[in-house]
Amino acid sequence: MIGQKAAETMEKTDIKSMTREELQEAICGMGEKKFRADQIYNWMHVKLAAGFDEMTNISKAFREECKEKFSYTALEAVRVQKSKIDGTQKFLFALEDGNVVESVLMPYKHGNSVCISSQVGCRMGCRFCASTLDGLTRNLKSSEMLDQIYSITRITGERVSNVVVMGTGEPLDNYDNLVRFIRLLTDENGLHLSQRNVTVSTCGIVPGIIKLAEEGLQITLALSLHGATDEKRQELMPIAKVYSINELMDAVDAYFARTGRRITFEYSLVAGINDTYEDVEHLSKLAGKRNCHINLIPVNPIKERNFRQPDQAYVAAFKNKLEKNRINVTIRREMGRDIDGACGQLRKRHLEEGKEDIRC
Ligand code: SAH
Repeated sequence: MIGQKAAETMEKTDIKSMTREELQEAICGMGEKKFRADQIYNWMHVKLAAGFDEMTNISKAFREECKEKFSYTALEAVRVQKSKIDGTQKFLFALEDGNVVESVLMPYKHGNSVCISSQVGCRMGCRFCASTLDGLTRNLKSSEMLDQIYSITRITGERVSNVVVMGTGEPLDNYDNLVRFIRLLTDENGLHLSQRNVTVSTCGIVPGIIKLAEEGLQITLALSLHGATDEKRQELMPIAKVYSINELMDAVDAYFARTGRRITFEYSLVAGINDTYEDVEHLSKLAGKRNCHINLIPVNPIKERNFRQPDQAYVAAFKNKLEKNRINVTIRREMGRDIDGACGQLRKRHLEEGKEDIRC
């Protein structure tokens, strides 16, 4: 019986992932006027309705018809944690199929930023990352990426001005849903977030970066570098065995040439692995000739691995040396230290409930 219900749901079209034009076509196909589609689109993407029943200017009969034809993604928070230190909030959302994903709301002076997940789990296998330990379960739909933001707004009443796709998952491994998500999020008839306020972080899938450069988007690309030579990168990231740093740099150069957007290089500092002064020199060579910015992230240790952060003074010295080489660099401020700040942790703890507490 449950199986049958699931099968019925699967046949329905995911309405919140549809573009305005696609929705207009579908609604007109149901014998309604185009403006009806625009009303529904507005309810979903501007008023952030949690279901068809909130759409009070649509007749009850047509709402019922819509329920038959479409599935409606509205994520429910199963856990919310708020940091007493900096106001960061973490949300664990339940998906329709029982999976869970997490998102983070970070209040900054310049506005609220939300970090979203792009997949349930991840198959990239970066050695220091908690989100990849159990592999990939599935891609998120565009609507499931969108509704992490919409749901946070519904719950908190806070306006979101920045979105970073830096939670669980590799966004370029879920390319089509990602691009559709960005177009919906930045659509002038929807929430209309500025594309310049959207950042996509990738472990470095070269064909994905090249394709993304051609989409005509003004989003920021963040590249998880973590090593400035192929050898060092390969120690931390399996993807580095597929694409060399040379190929990666060609791809980010193409991205910059096409979009004019400055690239961010993320560099997780791992004590004794990628934090030597020789690493500074290699990193400076890569960054020096590019319009880029380096974000240093002292690694968040996870219990499954032995990685440690260099101490604070050492991180500052690493930064200073880069600055002496005229590189733009910042150290990422750690948010929500008291609430399992690092990505993948809340979800993992939830899944292992009852087992040993996870700290990373
Ligand atoms: N898959 C994408 C986005 C998700 S991870 C990517 O690789 O970029 C977001 C960022 O957090 C990446 O730079 C990732 O390498 C980094 N990260 C993951 N686990 C971390 C940890 N334990 N400590 C520090 N940085 C980590």
